[in-house]
Amino acid sequence: MKKLLTFILFFCLPLLAMAQIQWPAGKKAAIMLTYDDGLQSQLQNVVPALNEHNFKGTFFLMGYYLDAKDLSQWREVSQQGHELGNHSIYHPCNEAQADTLSSHCRALNCYTVEEMLNEIKIMNTFLSAIDGKSQHSYAYPCGQYKAGGHDYGTPMISQGICTFARMSDSEEVITSPSQLMPNNVPSFTALPGYKAEQLTSYIEKVLASGGAGVILFHGIGGDWISVDVEEHQKMIDFLASHSEIWVGTFSDVLSYIQQQK
Ligand SMILES: [Zn+2]
Repeated sequence: MKKLLTFILFFCLPLLAMAQIQWPAGKKAAIMLTYDDGLQSQLQNVVPALNEHNFKGTFFLMGYYLDAKDLSQWREVSQQGHELGNHSIYHPCNEAQADTLSSHCRALNCYTVEEMLNEIKIMNTFLSAIDGKSQHSYAYPCGQYKAGGHDYGTPMISQGICTFARMSDSEEVITSPSQLMPNNVPSFTALPGYKAEQLTSYIEKVLASGGAGVILFHGIGGDWISVDVEEHQKMIDFLASHSEIWVGTFSDVLSYIQQQK
């Protein structure tokens, strides 16, 4: 009996922890294309490019930047099967990294955890008014998860305020269900002027691992932290030539993986 227990503890459990993700028939990996800040260039250049191949993307909107005249367009994007995610209302980042989006009083280090969670809840209500959905995923503004020095991501997930939260600046790939941390989903950040090859080499890495990867974009052919339309299109064409890759929304792919835990 003791030997059996030892066998299970030392051989079977680690194998289970390392278990690969089981993808739907015909798929070998997944890529989640995510776009931040709710930008015009995304409505103009990204949505049509995704729709052409029936790819589903995720758009993390921030409340204060949303224009009332665009709400019906974002609603349509949601109805097409894309995901609208929560990127807070004021996009607070730490003061040291604050840009024009974060005035002094809205810097993340001025917030308490409770204030930040309240802001996210209000943005959820706003998103529900657009897409009719009761649950939303989240992207940390500037990839920062501490409000006033305290982790707000962990209570945000444990209290069910958001389902999954995306970090930035990591090339890490999720290769097993046990590796998925809902409050800390890594993403590969596309920097200004990135070429298609830099994006497709990351996608090839994800495909080779049989796992799931997230790419973080901002503007496409305009706005800020922008990647050229042509380079983005080459990446879309690359994905279209690999039908074994599931191009799904952040929530759809992560929920699928989560169910295998
Ligand atoms: Zn942002």
